[in-house]
Amino acid sequence: MVVKFILPALIEAKERFWRSIKYSLFPPLGLATLAGYLADDDIAEIIDEHVEELDTDDHPDLVAIEVYITSAKRAYKIADKYRAKGVYVVLGGLHVTALPEEAARHADTIVTGPAEEAWPRFLADFRKGKAEKLYSSNTRTLAGLPLPRRDLIAKERYLVPNSIVVSRGCPHGCDFCYSNSFFRGGKHFYTATLDRCLVEIDRLSGRHLFFLDDNIFGDREFALELFASMKGMGRVWQGAATVKSILDDKLLDAAVQSGLRSLFVGFESLNEQSLLKHGKKHNRVGDYDRAVSMLHKRGVMINGSFVFGLDADDKTVFKATSEWAISCGIETSTFHILTPYPGTDLFNRYLKSQRIMDFDWDKYDTRHAIFTHPFLSKDELEEGYWKAYEYFYKWSNILRSSMSHETFTKRLRHIAYVGAWKKIDPWWAMIIRLKQLKLAVPPLEQLLQGKGRQNQRKGARTRVSALHDAAG
Ligand code: SF4
Repeated sequence: MVVKFILPALIEAKERFWRSIKYSLFPPLGLATLAGYLADDDIAEIIDEHVEELDTDDHPDLVAIEVYITSAKRAYKIADKYRAKGVYVVLGGLHVTALPEEAARHADTIVTGPAEEAWPRFLADFRKGKAEKLYSSNTRTLAGLPLPRRDLIAKERYLVPNSIVVSRGCPHGCDFCYSNSFFRGGKHFYTATLDRCLVEIDRLSGRHLFFLDDNIFGDREFALELFASMKGMGRVWQGAATVKSILDDKLLDAAVQSGLRSLFVGFESLNEQSLLKHGKKHNRVGDYDRAVSMLHKRGVMINGSFVFGLDADDKTVFKATSEWAISCGIETSTFHILTPYPGTDLFNRYLKSQRIMDFDWDKYDTRHAIFTHPFLSKDELEEGYWKAYEYFYKWSNILRSSMSHETFTKRLRHIAYVGAWKKIDPWWAMIIRLKQLKLAVPPLEQLLQGKGRQNQRKGARTRVSALHDAAG
């Protein structure tokens, strides 16, 4: 059987704020994992439209497309084209789960929710010629999850080929987050087995890893075991976590000893009432400064995530948020305009109160205001969003922010990291065009490593070497 997996380009990847490096970071790991369920004699390919051209002149037995909200139109177009030629098309992913009826109009089969159990069931039925229209997961477990088919990924096209996911979902319930709607109807947070994680990590070449989990600290016991086992594997890694989970000295120390060097942190708002209203009750604004300093003290850089357009926000929110992030030395920030994604509680609430004013999914990219706000107009929200970015990434503010670190080395690292990420787009474009992203990996590892902190590969037996021994 010939199977073609496609990740269609997000609409924003073709727009004015296109930054080639942003769309060349991570390979389509979800599709590579689905490919892991195929039989040895199946032929598979993965096409990621962000980094390569899609040719639709072929005639595979099956086309599987992952659909995000801002790639939905493109995904449907590709699906329609293949179906018109008689190719069987299956659609899955966040947007398919949110709006199954819409997606079903462009597919022979749709898969909603996490696919670990539904996808192999679909494959078995498809081989028998008895595939159904809809598959949803009956059980939620990562036991028996195959390793992703990384051999199908064109590694040289990505800055972070070593992205990895060891859990699904998140234990929290923020009303604007896709996580809750995607995992609705079953367990919404679960992890892979520790041994499987270690084997997968061990097979990744180089030192750098990026955990794409929503919340790598989400299961404390699992995280502690994972980090203890990774100690001595010589890795440097990045990931994402909540403010609350960072406040745990033991967990944070274990993470740093295993190679944690940079963390994406969901601060979202400096207004606690707004956070409570949106179900983010685990965030306490009074903890923010402590969380930042606990990370910085251990040499962990921060990518802060912030959302504009929560109900208590007014015109002052953009500069105040940006200024706070600068003043405490947060290295990079990701700003968003609140986006009520279909399927989320927020969307349903705003729909009911007639606050949604635009149903063009292309604009659901966290850069457009698509709902009415009590104090801010659409223009004010969108302009404020862009100004927050502009202000945060002004050279003078980068320098000022770097000064909050106590050592010269950390200040230099701050400037180098932000400069490389935000200020040399033409260089990234050239490196990507020349397919030489691998040249950027050693400097990135060096930057993340920092000075004087080592997680060297130890001669001592690690748990993973014991696993290999046990496997003979
Ligand atoms: S903590 Fe983050 S990942 Fe978890 S539900 Fe909230 S926004 Fe989503």
